[in-house]
Amino acid sequence: MLIDLHAHSTASDGTDTPAGLVAAAAAAGVEVLAITDHDTTAGWAAASAEARRTGVLLVPGAEITCRADGVSVHLLSYLHDPGHTELASVLAGSRTVRLQRARRMTELLSRDHPITWDDVLAQAASGATVGRPHVADALVAVGVVSSRDEAFATVLGDGSPYVLGLGAPHPVDGVRLVRSAGGVPVIAHCLASSRGRVVTEDVLEAMVEAGMGGVEVDHRDHSPSERVRLRAFAAQHGLLTTGSSDYHGTGKRNRLGENSTPRESLERIFALATGLEV
Ligand code: AMP
Ligand code: FE
Ligand code: FE
Ligand code: ZN
Repeated sequence: MLIDLHAHSTASDGTDTPAGLVAAAAAAGVEVLAITDHDTTAGWAAASAEARRTGVLLVPGAEITCRADGVSVHLLSYLHDPGHTELASVLAGSRTVRLQRARRMTELLSRDHPITWDDVLAQAASGATVGRPHVADALVAVGVVSSRDEAFATVLGDGSPYVLGLGAPHPVDGVRLVRSAGGVPVIAHCLASSRGRVVTEDVLEAMVEAGMGGVEVDHRDHSPSERVRLRAFAAQHGLLTTGSSDYHGTGKRNRLGENSTPRESLERIFALATGLEV
């Protein structure tokens, strides 16, 4: 059974609409798909309508931006109550902070490159969670770079003077918040050293203590040895493990269904969740 628990739509930085994402998953043979846009649940309704039409089992989720000691941490949440006031307000706050940061980064870029804020806004769907990928798309549109990949390899990479940090909640608070909203928190691609500095084992253990449900192990940014370490950590702490694509449409090379989650892990997610009936 092909179970892909991490994918993005135009509600954040993917290039398929929420319905298009589900249709693409069905076409790729994915039977269970989680929609996990950055800091928003805006894609859930359209995705779930398309899931009913195509027979895909949709797991509503989100990828919550967190930060620990300057290290970016992405926390997946499955099946939380989207009406939970505190979680909804933290996500709304992150979207606002992201918008301000993208605007400031665009100002910095515009000193050296022919890019305007309107160029960036033109790349994001209305109400979408804005991030570096939209700035990258604007740089492609005005001809500064030829692809998102090239943008991330140059002006938009970590450490670039044009790239600003992103204030975000601590992942331990993120885990508590997801649990209090009835969701199941699973940390995304947490040992992916190819993405930059990774979270410390101390933070991971504190997240487990706070109620983290699982870890995403099979992700293309994890090396074989990182997967071995993470599976051992999960076994030691009784965590479920997932495998996912982190699909972003044409914005990244990741293909739907390129990794899959064991059925047993999906069942544990359903058993742990109290926020939402599917
Ligand atoms: P931000 O959250 O605004 O800092 O942007 C990070 C986002 O950029 C993540 O969601 C990644 O999926 C995306 N990203 C990182 N590297 C690349 C890349 N090489 N090409 C396309 N998207 C990328
Ligand atoms: Fe993304
Ligand atoms: Fe992520
Ligand atoms: Zn993601």
